Amino acid sequence: MSIDGTYEPTNIFARIIRGEAPCARIFEDDATLAFMDAFPQSDGHCLVVHKKSVARNLLDVDEADLHAIVSTAQKIARALHRALKPDGVRIAQFNGASAGQTVFHLHVHIIPVYADRPLTAHASGGPSDLDKLNAFASRIAAAIP
Ligand code: 5GP
Repeated sequence: MSIDGTYEPTNIFARIIRGEAPCARIFEDDATLAFMDAFPQSDGHCLVVHKKSVARNLLDVDEADLHAIVSTAQKIARALHRALKPDGVRIAQFNGASAGQTVFHLHVHIIPVYADRPLTAHASGGPSDLDKLNAFASRIAAAIP
């Protein structure tokens, strides 16, 4: 049984995947999509989703789909580290509203951490404008081998 019910295909990430809502896209392959978080906790905060899986969270997902997500997350984390040179990179993933999840399509957060700047708290920041997000997306994409 899933945490918090069944998959809802109108969630914002499903709409982004279907091209019904905009995003600052970094990378895409057959299985996965990486794009910028619109309410970033730090400059360069990225998200990775599976494009076909309808898992709400880590507990629901097929193992092969999870492997694809993690593989892309590593690719993006390495590129982000090369491009933005943060002091650290935080990987986060929330399961269920009680654990802090706000969008119920499985995703992994890749959050650069800069020693001189505190992170904005999860799900509390203001929106970043699409031009700024696209600029970060381009820099990270350019650092993917
Ligand atoms: P969760 O709370 O589910 O772990 O993370 C959901 C993330 O999606 C949050 O970090 C939030 O800032 C981000 N987010 C919410 N709405 C949008 C949106 O419309 N576009 C993008 N790119 N990110 C969003």
